[in-house]
Amino acid sequence: MFNDAQMVMVVSYGVIGGLFGLMFGSAINAIVWRLKVKRSWAKGRSVCSDCGHTLAAIDLVPVLSWMVLRGKCRYCRAAIKDTPVAELVTAGAFAVSVAVILPISSLGFVKLGFWLVLLVLLLVLAVYDARWMILPDRIIVPLVAVALIYSAVTAWLTHSPQVLLGALMAAVFAGGAFGLLVVVTKGKAMGMGDVKLAFAMGLILGAQGTAVGLLVAFNAAALIGVVLLVSKLKSRKDLIPFGPYLVGGTVVAFLFARPIVAWYLGLNGL
Ligand SMILES: [Zn+2]
Repeated sequence: MFNDAQMVMVVSYGVIGGLFGLMFGSAINAIVWRLKVKRSWAKGRSVCSDCGHTLAAIDLVPVLSWMVLRGKCRYCRAAIKDTPVAELVTAGAFAVSVAVILPISSLGFVKLGFWLVLLVLLLVLAVYDARWMILPDRIIVPLVAVALIYSAVTAWLTHSPQVLLGALMAAVFAGGAFGLLVVVTKGKAMGMGDVKLAFAMGLILGAQGTAVGLLVAFNAAALIGVVLLVSKLKSRKDLIPFGPYLVGGTVVAFLFARPIVAWYLGLNGL
């Protein structure tokens, strides 16, 4: 598949992407908190969510600070609410994204740039939804805007207006299907946030990618739901947010829709 030189390039892009991902993972944790407590994003230093102590630079090193402090605030010893999970997931997602979408052509460069912005917004949504079961409009609206610009730019650069048309149709279809789910289940299984996120998913992935992303999301939710029930971590009464699965499905489909479709068609002898 790759020769040695290409392999070295893929791995080094991946490592650089992973390091950037660690930093962006910290930023995602910070954005999530500032959204929750409604502070403006840019100004103000990071503080402990329990004692309000201003955090020093040394408290903010991704993953390492958490490990050194054993998950407790240096000042009040309260448990730090930002576990390194978001940082590690972001690092992994960035590493794979950069390695898969090698920025070696101008189109690849544009695709990667847009994708990393979309990825950060998607991960903020996943973390926020996992914590508070809400997908805030203050992130969804920019996500939809960036996704729309991304499909328009791709359509323009590849001289194929059907890319934009397909993305819009996928968005309306996915959003509509989720809207129907919300109406039928009276908002118990899904919320309006999921409808908007599904709409954004259509814009980002186009028709084929959206189909793959939704399959991945529903299968992962079913599988993990069973594991959580069997391991008694959750009971049947617990509400489980669907946003993180939609985000996971979007990431997997954006990076791997083609090989997944090829594998699926091969499986069915088509
Ligand atoms: Zn504290």
